Amino acid sequence: MYRTYKYLLRPYTEQVKSLDFLLWQSRLVYNAALQQRINTYKETGKGVGYGAQWSHFRNVRHDNPDTLGKLNASSLQHLLRRLDKSFAGFFRRLKIGEKPGFPRYKGSSRFNSLEYTYNDGCKLRQDEKGRKSFYVQNVGEMRMCYHRAIPTDAEIKHIVLKRVGERWYVCLMLKLPDTGIHQVQTDQQIGIDVGLKNLAALSTGELIENPHWLRESLAKLRRLQRHASRQVKGSNHQRKTYHQIARLHEHVANQRADFLHKISNRLIAGNDLIAIENLSPRFMNRNRHLSLSSHDAGFGLFRQMLEYKAESAGIQVIAVNASNTTQACSECGSIVPKGLSVRVHACPNCGLVLDRDINAARNILTMALLPPLGRSGQAVTWAVAPCVA
Ligand SMILES: [Zn+2]
Repeated sequence: MYRTYKYLLRPYTEQVKSLDFLLWQSRLVYNAALQQRINTYKETGKGVGYGAQWSHFRNVRHDNPDTLGKLNASSLQHLLRRLDKSFAGFFRRLKIGEKPGFPRYKGSSRFNSLEYTYNDGCKLRQDEKGRKSFYVQNVGEMRMCYHRAIPTDAEIKHIVLKRVGERWYVCLMLKLPDTGIHQVQTDQQIGIDVGLKNLAALSTGELIENPHWLRESLAKLRRLQRHASRQVKGSNHQRKTYHQIARLHEHVANQRADFLHKISNRLIAGNDLIAIENLSPRFMNRNRHLSLSSHDAGFGLFRQMLEYKAESAGIQVIAVNASNTTQACSECGSIVPKGLSVRVHACPNCGLVLDRDINAARNILTMALLPPLGRSGQAVTWAVAPCVA
């Protein structure tokens, strides 16, 4: 079982300079490697693989000890693999008929992380008082907010140093042994319908409201952006405003994650089976207004949290095809057509009156409990023929 633990670093000014330098060198290599792939293809009609690029840049690194040489060798390998992956993804998507974007050159604002193999140019250290710090080669020992203990039986596989705004974090990828100890069975099952009006509707009848922090912060954000656009380009004042904007974005992301953690923990603790809709992000992002809301509500993050926490707790998360979950009656199965603005499900067949999202959540749970064939959506035939209201 793999988990990522993220810690805030507190580097000194000199250390931040060193980190920025490493990031800058990495970005130059990334762009140069991309250039190399493009040029080689143009000249020879053949691609360059990871292996060839590694031997090329390994030599460049040896010849330039003061610039690229400062970058750890395994970090350089991770970097070239990252490019390799983006090409692999590009060709894979091309093959299945999608329209992927070609891998891009990275500007300084789009390149924010360094990868290391643990124990190779980086290490978690502890002083005699038990304080933890994080050592990185050519940066030094950085203070670290060790807010969460790493389990003693965990193995640190690799690490990512990440710049968010003007802060630095270290993400430790841990391999944890599966203890086989899971939470006590509750015999409860729950269906969840994620929505825009409410973050989630539960089959138990509970509605979890969408806090819409981002929307509130957006007004503030827009004000700041307008302010920045009127400031002298490249001035210190403008730089400060951009800093404020970045901090605000980070703050909102933290609030959102915190809220979703609390809800997902509660849902996992109280149930043995969780049924959710299988929403495609592409569908949600197609509509500009919808995509803002879905981003705001953090659907993808919510599902991720449910899935990995379920794995730890030893419970099941089943994603069902969402077709008909809104229209069908969760009591008798009649199809009750309703537009987007109709918030209440009122069944003319059995007389059930329910919030439309809760009705959908109940349907999602029903579908998850059907034999596996039913989960794909095609095999589900509702008991009663559609009734026309
Ligand atoms: Zn009904």
